[in-house]
Amino acid sequence: MRRVTILGATGSIGQNTIDLIRRDPDAYRVVALTGGRNVGQLAADAAELGAEVAVTCHESELPALRAALAGSGVEAAAGQGALIEAASRPADWVMSAIVGSAGLAPGLAALRSGATLALANKESMVCAGPLMLETARAHGARILPVDSEHSAVFQALIGEDIAAVERVIVTASGGAFRDWPVERLASATPEEAATHPNWAMGQRITIDSASMFNKALELIETREFFGLAPNQIEALVHPESLIHALVGFADGALMAHVGPPDMRHAIGFALHWPERRTLPVQRLDLAALGQMTFRPADETRWPALRLAREVMEARGLAGAVFNAAKEQALDAFIARQIGFTRMTDVVAETLDRLSARDGLDDAVIDLDKVLSADHVARVTAREVIAQG
Ligand code: NAD
Ligand code: MG
Repeated sequence: MRRVTILGATGSIGQNTIDLIRRDPDAYRVVALTGGRNVGQLAADAAELGAEVAVTCHESELPALRAALAGSGVEAAAGQGALIEAASRPADWVMSAIVGSAGLAPGLAALRSGATLALANKESMVCAGPLMLETARAHGARILPVDSEHSAVFQALIGEDIAAVERVIVTASGGAFRDWPVERLASATPEEAATHPNWAMGQRITIDSASMFNKALELIETREFFGLAPNQIEALVHPESLIHALVGFADGALMAHVGPPDMRHAIGFALHWPERRTLPVQRLDLAALGQMTFRPADETRWPALRLAREVMEARGLAGAVFNAAKEQALDAFIARQIGFTRMTDVVAETLDRLSARDGLDDAVIDLDKVLSADHVARVTAREVIAQG
């Protein structure tokens, strides 16, 4: 029996993870499930899977969670301390699927307990890549990528020498607005941005796909995860979302990972690694599909990609600032305080204002420095937003 914990169990990745575990309940012992305000779902899943503990990150939801778990034998807990405690409980495999930089501290806690961390929370790698890798190393833990592109790169690298890698190409669907005229983007609404042509995902990552902030985060994640130089990493628009990434080697070969746009592939790969097991995903019929198409990832249409290059060069705490400013800008867009294209301006302006500050280029980062850069960036981004 493998002991598993799911951080962010009520979200899109969390529910897909539960779907896989539910198909083979005898193989797993569920340690902890965590969520937010959706305590009904959290309690139902925790009771069904016989979890030790269910945690909501909101203290105010504890009475509702307790009530929903009454008689189930599952412990109820709430708040940041409880989240870290749950993430630290001995487990063999922990899914990191909280959205945003809020996923960083719980993921680090799981690594400190020596668990294999299946990492969907790309923000951890963007904010604190070196800290994540060093924590894993120091505690004999392992990080497996779950973001589909990074899982694809990881799979293409099996049996290969990283020194022979020339480049990595991360594909992007182009999101909701890939065919819109650029002039129309400024007036795009949150509802329009939150529809994805190929993937069913949480609201925030879907809007980040339309703005390409998601791809920007993924370029930075690629740099940190695989230790590549910024000029070895490219984005490519591939509207069908069938090739998730390609790895180019010194001899000119390109290894592509092709699969259906279903996150249960990458989650299942990380769950069963190093084995491959049968997964309940569609088998592609390439003859029926007929063709795959590609377009350049235009940095004028998607300036977030240009900002990602700056962050990849700067490293240090630039990733934490970039991500936090992006989260604030996204909140403001969802709340209709700023327009769609203004999000990139807010992030660029926040990076500019903070790049002059001491310590932003610190090579050695720890959790306190990252959390403080995250905080300062949020305050600065809010100022930029308020100044219009
Ligand atoms: P989601 O919004 O559907 O779910 C987020 C989960 O995190 C929920 O359980 C929520 O309760 C919890 N949460 C939210 N804020 C929290 C906080 N402050 N503290 C603790 N818990 C909190 O998100 P998602 O789409 O499942 O994405 C989760 C992560 O996986 C993100 O980092 C995203 O970028 C990444 N990812 C998602 C997909 C996808 O297909 N959805 C694909 C690749 C990567
Ligand atoms: Mg992805």
